Formats: sequence, structure tokens, C-alpha cells
Amino acid sequence: MSTHLPDGARAVAIDILVHGPRSRAQLAKDMGSSAPTLTRLVKPLLAAGVLVETDAVPSPGRGRSSVPLDVVPDAWRFVGVKLTSETVYAVTTNLRAEVLDAETVDAPSREVASVVATVSDVVGRLRRRAGRQVHGVGVTVGGLVEDGEMVAHSPFLDWAEVPFRGLLAAEIDVPVFLANDVVGLTRAQQWFGHGRDSRDFALVTVGAGVGYGLVMDDRLVPTTVAPVSHLAIDPHGPLCSWGHRGCMSSYVTSPAMTAAVGQAHRRSVTYDDVLALAEEGDAAARRVVDEAAHALGRAVSAITSLTGVARIILSGEGVRLAELGRAALDAGRLEYPGARTSAADPVVIRPMGFLEWARGAAVIAIQAVFPQPDTVLP
Ligand SMILES: [Zn+2]
Repeated sequence: MSTHLPDGARAVAIDILVHGPRSRAQLAKDMGSSAPTLTRLVKPLLAAGVLVETDAVPSPGRGRSSVPLDVVPDAWRFVGVKLTSETVYAVTTNLRAEVLDAETVDAPSREVASVVATVSDVVGRLRRRAGRQVHGVGVTVGGLVEDGEMVAHSPFLDWAEVPFRGLLAAEIDVPVFLANDVVGLTRAQQWFGHGRDSRDFALVTVGAGVGYGLVMDDRLVPTTVAPVSHLAIDPHGPLCSWGHRGCMSSYVTSPAMTAAVGQAHRRSVTYDDVLALAEEGDAAARRVVDEAAHALGRAVSAITSLTGVARIILSGEGVRLAELGRAALDAGRLEYPGARTSAADPVVIRPMGFLEWARGAAVIAIQAVFPQPDTVLP
């Protein structure tokens, strides 16, 4: 039987999951509610096993209001799957999105039926190895995802109008949730990362493409039309694949950077080569990395000016360029200082690997499922 939780109770459970265990008294203070209200909200959560009292013996004379309440992270399992054109990255996590198991498999083809089979196989293996109930499966893809159901357009997979969630749900008998990959990463930062202590922040990822996620007043703002990846940087800059001159993608994407350095050295280079050469002081690579970091700084400035967010998390497989080119990044960021950009440095650099994308997919499932009490194991 499905149990319905009042919104206030959900908020308490989420607050404890995101910000850690606290006593009823502290929670009431943090959430601005009265002690009796808080106690009433906590009651169904304790009954359902969503929350537990972490210390059965309260300190003498202080009563139950001082007993810390916590979630039970290891009572929950989630699977996160991130698709790329060639590879399926999958992880199993607990409720705090800590990775417990992982698998990386080659996708034999981009054909929809084949991808559905590959994903349901890997989810099946992770579930068997988990050896217990999995509460939700989150799947993310690069591209436009509509209503959590449809991959409307994915240039990476070469898909259009694919009702992917329903196709997966027909094969996987656990609730399945579908989202854009940058949305998954942004939600992971919101609950379990650098966004945890900010109600407003933006995430910019660099790698093969440029991703942009935005959270305002603790809510995710849809940013599906890639407003940052083709932001104008320099009208005399290089061409991007869409034909723009000097847009973000023409500077910071890995294909743009490897092409520019490859051309200078008249040989093909990998993205790692570009960064290694820049670090060794190779003039061409250094210039390409600095120009990319400068463009990234301009994007940071534009985002802070337009949204007012005080924190910008830079991440993605290519984020090392921001570390190598930190001086150029700051120069770009401060070129046109506004009220916000001239204040404290908003930039947080968070290196990451591909499993981080899969973890972001797991967080899509965590946010969708938690804290439905009927999904908790008895
Ligand atoms: Zn462009």
C-alpha cells in the first residue's frame, strides 16, 4: 500500500539527507518550525523507517528532542546509467549517492533496440550483484529530453523522438527515470556536492561539448537549449561546427582544442596531449589552453551577470584546462567586471571522470523516489 507523506515531512527527510543528521530541536530551528510541528512531521518518517534515531539513549535530562535523527543510507540502492555514443557507464549507489559498484560496457550500436538491451542487461547485472532491492534506476543522455520520457533530440546518439523511458521501463521492473546528463550532474551537485550549501548556483561542464545547469532558489531552471555552449566570445575567433565565429564551442571543446594544436604541429594529437604539451610549455598548446580558459572566464562572467548566482562549479572531463589556464580564466572573468563579478571569486573547480556522470543519473532516481516510505525495506 502506498503511504502518502505530507510535504512538510518530505522536506524534513530531504533536509536530513542533504545536510546531515540533527536533533529535533536543531531541525525545528533550522527549518523555522515549532518543536511540536517538527515532532508531528517526524513521526510518520520514523514509523516508515525513512528516519531513525541514531542514539537510542538520550543524554540524561535532555529528553528526546536532543536525539539525532538520520536517514539509513545503506537501506537504499539506486542504479545510475549514463549513455554516450560508444559506451554505457553504470553505477550502483546508496541513498547518499556513494558509489558501491560500477560497470562500463561498450555499446554495440546506437540503434535504439540494441541500446535498450545493453542498458537492461547492465542494470540486471548490477541488481544481481547488489543482492537486495533497487529502489530506482536513473538514465541520462546528452541531448534534449522531454517530460522525463522522450529523447527528443540527441546528436551524440543520432536519435530523434525516441520514447526511451517507456522502452526501458518495459524491460526493467524497477521505477525508471530519464533526464538530460547535465541535469543529472547539476542535481548531484545540488544534493551531494558543492551546490549543497547554496540555493543558487550554476554548473558548467567542458569536454567534448559544453554543458550548463542552473539552480535558482533551490529549483533547477531548464537550460536545455544550450545557451552557454555557443555564447559569443570573440567575433574574430575560430569557427565552430555550427558556423559561428568565436563562440564558446570554437574555443573550449576538446575537438576544437585538439584540431587547433594538431594544426600547429602538423600531426594529430589527443586531448591529453594538448594538456600535457601546455604543461610542458609548448607555445601552441599553451595558447590554445589559455584561449579556452579565457573563454570559460568570459562565460563565468556572463552567467554571474545574467543570473546573479554567487557560485559557479566548473566540471567535466576537460576541466583541467581551467586549472592549467587559471590566470587566463580569471582575466576573462574580470574583463568586464559587474557588481557580482568584482566581488568574491565564484569559481569552484571540480575534476571528474565519466563515472561521475553515471552517479548524476543515480541522483535523478534518488530525487524522484526519496522519501516514499513504501519503497523502504522493512
Ligand atoms: Zn557555435
